[in-house]
Amino acid sequence: MADVIDEAPDAVTLRLQLEEPGGFLPGQYYNVRLEVAERQRPVQRAYSVGSSPVPDPSVIDLGVREVPGGLLSPRLVGFRTGQCLEVRGPYGRFTWTGEEAGPVLLVGAGSGLVPLMSMVRHAVHRGRSDPVWLICSAATYDHAFYRDELAGLADMHRWLRLVHCITRDPTEERADYHRRVDKAVLSECLGETRPARAYLCGPPAMVESVAAALVDLGVGPAVIATEKYD
Ligand SMILES: Cc1cc2nc3c(=O)[nH]c(=O)nc-3n(C[C@H](O)[C@H](O)[C@H](O)COP(=O)(O)OP(=O)(O)OC[C@H]3O[C@@H](n4cnc5c(N)ncnc54)[C@H](O)[C@@H]3O)c2cc1C
Repeated sequence: MADVIDEAPDAVTLRLQLEEPGGFLPGQYYNVRLEVAERQRPVQRAYSVGSSPVPDPSVIDLGVREVPGGLLSPRLVGFRTGQCLEVRGPYGRFTWTGEEAGPVLLVGAGSGLVPLMSMVRHAVHRGRSDPVWLICSAATYDHAFYRDELAGLADMHRWLRLVHCITRDPTEERADYHRRVDKAVLSECLGETRPARAYLCGPPAMVESVAAALVDLGVGPAVIATEKYD
């Protein structure tokens, strides 16, 4: 049974109480299956978990952004509290174990922020002190997932360095940059520091260009983990 929480004009969090909780790691996803009139078989899509497995892994928050013209995401964004959803998982190797010592870089665009939020929430629970840069790319500030919670966490925890790249609102004063994440943004944010781990999530083109920029800046490909939402 889902609780529905508005995240943005085109996005929700679906909070689910799992009937058979198996535990998950930050960064993993579940497959959601739904019957739709247009198809004979249930349609299945992947959605990442935005919540932390600590303290309660039996409750998962899935963050869903509506893809216009899509089969499943508009239906999920239109979900009402109390409706039931079939999920299977967790899956995926884009994971944060909690042992990530040293500086960490997280870069997410659009709904790509969802698994990164699970990592940040988990790091808060574990009492992290090493720096974490979280670079969020969104069309407008109001489209950025978790913007209020993240602003509060960044105020509270010096290790969390929050950066907003706002791509379609040049007047937005809360933006750190009014463009996409590029090599200059990464270089300015990181300064002389090179992350011990980097996690990149979102549209394939963004993930690939940020990974290439990081390698140009001297980050070893082996420490860069990617999740592409194709
Ligand atoms: C590992 C993983 C994790 C993910 N996590 C998340 C997450 O946390 N949050 C999230 O919001 N998304 C996530 N996604 C993306 C998600 O799984 C879906 O791909 C997304 O929601 C779109 O699904 P849909 O059914 O709405 O769209 P689809 O029906 O799959 O359509 C996608 C696009 O293709 C177009 N299209 C469809 N059919 C046609 C056609 N015949 N001709 C031309 N164009 C067509 C649609 O208009 C739409 O623009 C994740 C993906 C992966 C792989």
